[in-house]
Amino acid sequence: MGVYVVTGAASGMGRSTAEQLRWEGHVVIGVDLQRADVQADLSTAEGRQQAIAEVKASCHGRLDGAVFAAGLGPVPGREEIIAKVNFLGVVELLEGLHEDLAAAGNAKVVIFSSNSTTTIPGIPQEIIDAFMRRDIGEALQLAEEAGPQASASFIYAGSKTAVTHWMRTIGVTDKWAGKGIRINALAPGAIRTPMVEAQLADPKLAPMIRAFPIPVREFGKPEEVAQWAVFMLSPAANFLCGSVIFLDGGTDAYFRADSWPRAMTIDEMPIYQAKVEEFARTLAE
Ligand code: NAD
Repeated sequence: MGVYVVTGAASGMGRSTAEQLRWEGHVVIGVDLQRADVQADLSTAEGRQQAIAEVKASCHGRLDGAVFAAGLGPVPGREEIIAKVNFLGVVELLEGLHEDLAAAGNAKVVIFSSNSTTTIPGIPQEIIDAFMRRDIGEALQLAEEAGPQASASFIYAGSKTAVTHWMRTIGVTDKWAGKGIRINALAPGAIRTPMVEAQLADPKLAPMIRAFPIPVREFGKPEEVAQWAVFMLSPAANFLCGSVIFLDGGTDAYFRADSWPRAMTIDEMPIYQAKVEEFARTLAE
């Protein structure tokens, strides 16, 4: 049986993941604002450091896996908190727990992304770039310039896109994959958690949520998504690394059937060649 940290463990998909892991007999260190083993505010630098310190103290030097489910939806007026929890609440915690995950030898990490990464049109690349530089102030400024309607949705989708790109970038490096740590992301569509129930209860948002194309014609359930997260923490996921699993009833495929897989272009050959050589050097070290 393993030891796992789950952020966002007090509600929705994080809660369901923590419950399923405990049911299987694993030890779960839940992190959330309230009703969790570690109560910390991941929107602040102090809260993130406190969470890292308390998880490290509880796991005794070894973590078999981590699930990053704490996050907020695109609520207007809460852009700064969304940006900090959804992006820094993942990258800083994951970096802070690297040593404990590496100690397990084949730890697994699941990051909650979103299908908003591919189904919200027009997320400015500059916002994603600002997140990647960890310049949250710049990301917020750029989103504000997009206007009050677009701001929360660009910050939400921008934070999820950036955290997913970051995951794919670092996940395949010697520091992470080379130490046996498999990092992947789940990209849910509309799942009936308190987050989506709140949006459905909002008379302005509800018609948009209900009209959004979901080919299977129903919302997802938190316990189903949690089963995927638990599967991605299991030995069955030993060969899964840097992948993004869309669990969205077909929305991404509906909008973008032929956007992926996409072959590398001839222009990308120099990057391809450099990567092959870089990997050979890593193996030789
Ligand atoms: P939820 O609101 O049910 O649970 C999120 C949890 O995060 C809550 O327990 C909340 O307290 C915690 N949290 C929020 N701010 C925090 C902070 N500052 N510090 C510590 N914890 C904090 O949400 P959910 O629907 O289960 O979503 C889980 C993840 O999946 C989120 O990252 C969300 O963005 C993502 N997601 C959700 C949906 C959906 O349809 N519900 C779709 C795509 C992606």
